[in-house]
Amino acid sequence: MKINENYLNLKESYLFATVNRKAREFQASHPDKKVIKLGIGDVTIPLCTAVTEAMHKAVDEMATKEHFHGYGPEQGYDFLKEAIQSYYAKRNTSLELDEIFISDGAKSDVGNILDIFAQDNVVLIPDPVYPVYVDTNVMAGREVKFMDANASNGFLAMPDPAVHADIIYLCSPNNPTGAVYNKEQLKAWVDYANANDAVILFDAAYEVFVADEAMPRSIFEIEGAKQCAIEFCSFSKTAGFTGTRCGYTVVPMDLVRGGESLNKLWLRRQTTKFNGVPYVVQRGAEAVFTEEGQKQIHEAIAYYKENAKIIAEALDELGIWYTGGINSPYIWLQCPNGMGSWEFFDFLLEQANVVGTPGAGFGNNGEGFFRLTAFGDRDNTKEAVERIKAALKK
Ligand code: PLP
Repeated sequence: MKINENYLNLKESYLFATVNRKAREFQASHPDKKVIKLGIGDVTIPLCTAVTEAMHKAVDEMATKEHFHGYGPEQGYDFLKEAIQSYYAKRNTSLELDEIFISDGAKSDVGNILDIFAQDNVVLIPDPVYPVYVDTNVMAGREVKFMDANASNGFLAMPDPAVHADIIYLCSPNNPTGAVYNKEQLKAWVDYANANDAVILFDAAYEVFVADEAMPRSIFEIEGAKQCAIEFCSFSKTAGFTGTRCGYTVVPMDLVRGGESLNKLWLRRQTTKFNGVPYVVQRGAEAVFTEEGQKQIHEAIAYYKENAKIIAEALDELGIWYTGGINSPYIWLQCPNGMGSWEFFDFLLEQANVVGTPGAGFGNNGEGFFRLTAFGDRDNTKEAVERIKAALKK
């Protein structure tokens, strides 16, 4: 028996585990201090009533012989796929129901999609980036090329015609940087992917934070994308489903590589290895798209965005460079006074008792940068900002 030795090539510890351990150790040795966490990207506002009412109703249905649901379709119920189809249609993107696959979240799908690609593909990943893209490829023993995202390109890497890639990861609005691609920039990526016979894996987990109508929320708003892209989305940040678990992936029928339909391969993968998302959860997710559901989730998004504004205004006052925070829940700032990412992490923890996420944990280009999130509670965010200001002005 041999283990998958690719696992030994993974970096020793996961970023958030280290952040949590440091925060825990600090709290244990300073029990009198209140540590505020603006680090991990988990939501804090509970599920909205449109969702919970739909879920309660679904639970009651499950208790009756007529409406009980056993195994559902692996790729999701039509009622939820139809709701997603209408959501895309509102932004003039037409999807077929069979192009939509419901899952238990974007993280699983982003990892699992690699099943349908050969091992010797060249993978292009922005640096810095959501660590799951890199780690899932390392696990599969794939070669990863990094593309630089940095202050000079606004943390939005663009295609380099001299570099060939087969699989390209794009995340917009971006985690960790909060940067968002505009339509022209995405068009350049779509053209590059089509010219290289590559596939773009587009992570739209934060699309709901895009307020600017001119900015794309889906790669399928770009002409030619259906021939080269797969899109991942999630109810986690959109509707507070981080603990409820539901997402969806769009694999267009027009996406063909090596003469094979990627939709067909993904369908085969999902029907073989996945048994669907709970009926109750899918009913909850469906309610997100009702008029009431949309109103309620947008109230929560507005709350988080106000937090982002509070953080951004403090950084403006301190003269600290940052991106994000407008069409995104993340604020990506340059560590002040030339501090390194972990150095600034320790400084904030010790001097302001605030926990953020060191940019270096997201890739080499993240060194010297730091991520704060707007997912906290309002009072805590305000207090954290005051403490950061006081610590830096000292
Ligand atoms: N994609 C990005 C860019 C994320 O930041 C996250 C979670 O933080 C996910 C995907 C995972 O989402 P889900 O909760 O749907 O698995």
